[in-house]
Amino acid sequence: MSARQACAKIAVVGAAGRMGQRVIACAQELPEVCVCGAVDVATCPVIGTDAGVHAGCGALGVAMSADLTAACAAADVAVDFALADGVAARMETYVQTKTACVLGTTGVDAAGRAAITRAAREIAVVHAPNFSVGVNVLCALVRRAAAVLGGAYDVEIVEMHHRHKKDAPSGTAVRLAEMVEAGAGAALQRVYGREGQCGARPRGELGIHAVRGGDVVGDHTVIFAGEGERIELTHKASTRDTFARGALRAALFAVQAPPGLYAMEDVLGIK
Ligand code: NAD
Repeated sequence: MSARQACAKIAVVGAAGRMGQRVIACAQELPEVCVCGAVDVATCPVIGTDAGVHAGCGALGVAMSADLTAACAAADVAVDFALADGVAARMETYVQTKTACVLGTTGVDAAGRAAITRAAREIAVVHAPNFSVGVNVLCALVRRAAAVLGGAYDVEIVEMHHRHKKDAPSGTAVRLAEMVEAGAGAALQRVYGREGQCGARPRGELGIHAVRGGDVVGDHTVIFAGEGERIELTHKASTRDTFARGALRAALFAVQAPPGLYAMEDVLGIK
């Protein structure tokens, strides 16, 4: 069997978006995957055009479509970077069509998260707020630092993203907060920004700050501030391709995994 015949068939969902385009383009680097579907909303102006042309990687013979069911029926795995609205309905389609799912969408509400958990009983779902290998290493470092430093250090998380980002704080900042708490072995009082006479900072607080502007792909810094010293652990993404390549790696994992809810740590084997 040729590499082409053996490739994992991918339907890219949110295909016209910033991430969808980079997933389509980066998939062309990998002989073990092929893009067989590209889905976006019916109102998207590029529906019907070639997905590869829109992504800037040349014609693929795959038309942008609004028919998620048809795209999934032809695919082994959906790589979904669509928005949080409608995530529950998309998860139902993945289950009905028995399509594994790599979900990059952030800002998912409680109902959406419940739908993801339900779907993962029947299909493999990899859901990660950040598919970059570097950020997942940062998560591990933050957890370790929080475990060693304990409650004697004040922890603050600062993230910056481009002006178009719709949710705040970033899913990665929330994940980093979870890593701090896991390392510290305690739930902390999360504070989102500060304003006015908010008083001295109490112990046990975890500040999270979202900065927005320009074309910043994604910066995250976790600050551990103690008496006389501070540690700052920073990751800066300079291209969306780092997320796209990680998501494609997760897709290859998902097509072989039994039903379940997986994180990027599972894909990387660093759990
Ligand atoms: P974007 O707005 O550029 O693209 C989103 C696309 O999804 C749009 O084309 C939109 O029309 C489409 N869409 C919306 N609802 C849809 C639906 N129900 N079905 C099909 N398509 C739909 O956004 P973006 O910058 O590409 O980011 C997309 C999501 O991915 C956001 O939630 C973002 O936070 C997240 N993200 C995750 C990672 C990661 O590594 N996990 C990295 C970057 C961005």
